[in-house]
Amino acid sequence: MNNINGKTKTIGLIGNPVEHTLSPFIHNMLAEKMKLNTVYVPFHVKNGNLKEAISGASALGILGTNVTVPYKVDVMPYIDELQERAKIIDAVNTIKFINGRRYGYNTDADGLLTSCKRAGISLMNKTICILGAGGAARSVAVMCAEEKAKKIIIVNRTVEKAQELKLAILNYFNIEIQVLGYDAIKSQSEVDVCFQTTSIGMYPNSDVTPIDDENFFKGLRWAVDIIYNPSETKFLSLAKASGVSILNGLGMLYFQAVKAYEIWNDIEIPDAILEECLNQFTDYVYSKKR
Ligand code: NAP
Repeated sequence: MNNINGKTKTIGLIGNPVEHTLSPFIHNMLAEKMKLNTVYVPFHVKNGNLKEAISGASALGILGTNVTVPYKVDVMPYIDELQERAKIIDAVNTIKFINGRRYGYNTDADGLLTSCKRAGISLMNKTICILGAGGAARSVAVMCAEEKAKKIIIVNRTVEKAQELKLAILNYFNIEIQVLGYDAIKSQSEVDVCFQTTSIGMYPNSDVTPIDDENFFKGLRWAVDIIYNPSETKFLSLAKASGVSILNGLGMLYFQAVKAYEIWNDIEIPDAILEECLNQFTDYVYSKKR
């Protein structure tokens, strides 16, 4: 980053707030290891300024941006060409600007899928439970449907939102989807993989979990929490105590960033560099040196 010069290409993050983002660390590390002349900076875009921010980024010749809360859906009208995956997920987290045109992508499902595959989690023909029905749950559901899961069970506090998610997925995929409440899921013993996608258990409220029933965990093979802080949520601790294999959300965060960086630069990052950067990123997040 000390080598910024006249040829440096800028990449940014559009969101509100952006102060706590880990994305600059990942993207500037990837640039250094790949020896690419890019710099990644956060852009705090206040409410009401999104349209101008996108036009401005395009006019400034910025290579691309990530888009985070609360703009992942709001940004869609300002995109010229939408990747099919982003259309299905109905949210954009990555924009690439080419000759004044805006190309929109969603890399969240890519990130989670890569993380799952590296952990050895297979989704094909599996019964999957998704806790939550928000934006992240939609990416998870699309990933499971694309990977040809046998069945998806969506569990959400607000049942109507779970029903909406079910219908949205059925618009694009032919897959069995069941909507259940938290009480009903406790007695389910058929679930192979459970994805925890609610914000319950996130730091500093780390002592809560959306589900704590031992019977539920006993039947599981994998518990995945897309939260990465704390590294082991209460949901994951309980699963582990029941002998279930666990995975947290740090890999999802890292690999969605990797995919975005590959899109902006039209490259494929070699495995050795991916591994080295993941180790460095994990140290950065969990060593409390930040
Ligand atoms: P969202 O759209 O606001 O959805 C939040 C979900 O959590 C909803 O299903 C909501 O249920 C549920 N929820 C919240 N508080 C609850 C409570 N007290 N009791 C029961 N359910 C509750 O948020 P999101 O964008 O999907 O993000 C969800 C989580 O995923 C966040 O922790 C976020 O940091 C994490 N995330 C991680 C990554 C990653 O890369 N690792 C990426 C994206 C998101 P209702 O519908 O009933 O309100």
